Formats: sequence, structure tokens, C-alpha cells
Amino acid sequence: MKKWLLLSMALYSANALAFPRENPVPGGIAHVTIAPLSNTAPIVQYAGQRVTVVPVASQWVALVGIPLDVEEGTQQLNTASGERIAFEIQPKQYKTQHITIRDKNKVDPDDESSERIVRELAVQQQAKTHFTEGETQLDFIKPVPGRDTGRFGLKRFINNQPRNPHSGMDIAAATGTPVEATAAGRVLHTDDFFFSGNTVYVDHGAGVISLYAHLSEITVKPGDVLQQGDIVGKVGSTGRATGPHLHWSVYLNGEPVDPALFLSSKK
Ligand SMILES: [Zn+2]
Repeated sequence: MKKWLLLSMALYSANALAFPRENPVPGGIAHVTIAPLSNTAPIVQYAGQRVTVVPVASQWVALVGIPLDVEEGTQQLNTASGERIAFEIQPKQYKTQHITIRDKNKVDPDDESSERIVRELAVQQQAKTHFTEGETQLDFIKPVPGRDTGRFGLKRFINNQPRNPHSGMDIAAATGTPVEATAAGRVLHTDDFFFSGNTVYVDHGAGVISLYAHLSEITVKPGDVLQQGDIVGKVGSTGRATGPHLHWSVYLNGEPVDPALFLSSKK
């Protein structure tokens, strides 16, 4: 058995799986036992996307990101060996949030902006579904200290118009506050997007991706290797934002999940 696997086993059996916490609801995470531990992690897919699989005690466990728009009930994982593994999703009602944006083009984009948004969606889809084989760090830190001003999953109305639910956590902080990588990883993509402004994607391995948006400044470039706590940029209000804050998202199998599930309640 490989050395890293023994180390992982020791680590995980000591903590069970502390992070991320299980919450099998839309926008939450299901823990699904796949197989007894072996040398390589099994290949598992959900809705056509690779799923994060980690060693927990003597088992491989899938951490499935549950889409925000999925109905409660039974869902299925597919393994490379042709197995189907069922898991259950419970219902959850998220609260509603009304926000006002002064820049009307950020709410009802003109034709040129709409074309830009479509181009950016393709780039974003590729970044959030990126999958690098290997291990991942799951005990996250909050990227900036501060008050949560917009929880994950809120049903949003912008200038009274229904919009997509909130795909991350908003943390209030002053412009220029350093933003720290939530865990070790590698910078996957940096960009200036129409809605999320200056944005950094970090690949934490095994299908775990984080995103930091509305930055006033980006201080990393794609390919940079990061330790947990390394600075990726500074808080700002670029893109569609009501004021300076960090928008922080975490993706599993390409789906945004509640970042709070990765944080210890002590942090
Ligand atoms: Zn946000």
C-alpha cells in the first residue's frame, strides 16, 4: 500500500470525516460510501461530472455536490465499473433576499454585454468542473475575517426581478483587505468577468474548486502553487456588487455548495 494512503488513513480515521459536514439537501453535500479502501480512488460520476472521492477510515467515500435546483428524492451515482449507487436528497427552503443595483446594465444587460456573458459562462463552466486526480485539503479557512452578509442559497431578487440563487457566501470587508486561499491548491484561472468582476479560481485537487470574486486586485497567476492562507488578491467591488465584499464559492462536481459546510464552527 502506498505511503500517502497509509498517512491519509491514519489522518481520516483519527478525525472520521470532519469536513465537509454532510447535509444532503439542494446546495449541500451527500457523503456516499463507494467501496473498501484500495490503492486508487474509484472513478465516480454524478449527472455526467466526476465526483470527489476521499478515503475515510477503511472506505472510499464520495462527497457529492447537490445542485440547488434538484428535487428531493433518490439520486444516483455511476462508477467506472458500471455500478449504480443510490442516495437520498432531503428538501430545503432557502430564504429570499432583495438587493438593489444602481448600474442598470448589470441587471438588464445590453446586447454586447449579453454576448460577453455567454462567452464567460463557457469559461466558468470549464473552470468549475475541472478535475485534477489526487488528494485534496478539506479543512478550510475563511478567506477574509468578517461578517456574513449574504448566505449561500438565498433566492435573489435584484431590483425586484427574480435571479439565480446565491451561489456563494458574501463576507463584508473593506476594499484592499487581503484574501487568503481557503486551502492548499493551484491557481486554475483568473479573469475579469461581467458579473463577478476580478475573479480567481483555485483547484484544490480531486474536483474541489474555490472561487473569489469582486476583487479590487488579483495578485496571483494561473499555475501558481498555493499553501492554505496564501494571498490571491484584495477585496473590492468589481463586477455586479452593492459595495466592497468578498464573494466566495466552493464547487464539488461543478455544483456550488455551501462553503460554511467546510468551516469549523470555531473559525
Ligand atoms: Zn455573492
